[in-house]
Amino acid sequence: MDIVYQCSRLEGKVAIITGGASGIGEGAVKLFSKHGAKVVIADVQDDLAHSICKDLDPKSALFVHCDVTNESDVKNAIDTTVAKYGQLDIMFNNAGIMGVAKPSILDNDKAEFEKVISVNIVGAFLGTKHAARVMIPARRGSIITTASISSVIGGVATHAYTISKHAVVGLTRNAAVELGQYGIRVNCVSPATVATPMAKTLLKMDEDEIQSLYSNLKGAVLKPEDVAEAALYLGSDDSKYVSGLNLVVDGGFTIVNPALN
Ligand code: NAD
Repeated sequence: MDIVYQCSRLEGKVAIITGGASGIGEGAVKLFSKHGAKVVIADVQDDLAHSICKDLDPKSALFVHCDVTNESDVKNAIDTTVAKYGQLDIMFNNAGIMGVAKPSILDNDKAEFEKVISVNIVGAFLGTKHAARVMIPARRGSIITTASISSVIGGVATHAYTISKHAVVGLTRNAAVELGQYGIRVNCVSPATVATPMAKTLLKMDEDEIQSLYSNLKGAVLKPEDVAEAALYLGSDDSKYVSGLNLVVDGGFTIVNPALN
């Protein structure tokens, strides 16, 4: 059998990427666009999003201001996309926040906890709900949510963050079961630490320090493109039989037993 490498794996597809103005989302916007998709950045950082769109083909890139915790914003982002491009094939629920890191649960306050839950869980729920609304009649679609290795292990991040990332795997599995009958696939991608603005805050490192950690600890610290490639796979027809998966992208980090290695 001949295997042909396709460099336009998303030709004819339309993708919304929440949190597309920075980090992993920005990487996905650029990679999806390179592979032929029309891309819509849904984010709250207007200036960053506009400058990313400026470097892409104006006929194939759009920014819609969208706070993922606000249902009318999410509905508007999806309806604007369908009005402009006629369809929605890929919904990438990628926007997320870490919250303020406090070592002890005793120091974590409720308002901060609820903020993380709202962006990471409610945001993914609303994105999944409104994507399904337009994908069900079309009888096709791929919904992807960025979880984290904090969806499979504890102790890496804040309590609220770890809880939120476990939760979106549950959302993904439930939605995959329900939406499979309409030809809609629902998956998560779960990266280890990625060199993005979020990681700089978490690790308290600058870009150079993160890059040097990246070269020393390959697999444990990723680049945004490494995660975008996994999302590209889940968004493309290459994964046409993959649904309900939590695709962990960590170079084996979470399966290593430190006692034996
Ligand atoms: P980032 O801070 O670089 O980007 C996050 C983007 O989300 C920003 O553009 C921000 O404006 C946007 N955003 C935040 N709140 C929003 C809201 N309410 N509505 C719309 N947009 C909002 O961070 P990143 O590292 O690229 O994170 C992307 C995703 O990857 C998040 O879900 C994060 O939890 C996850 N993740 C990150 C890492 C990491 O180490 N960086 C590891 C695993 C998972």
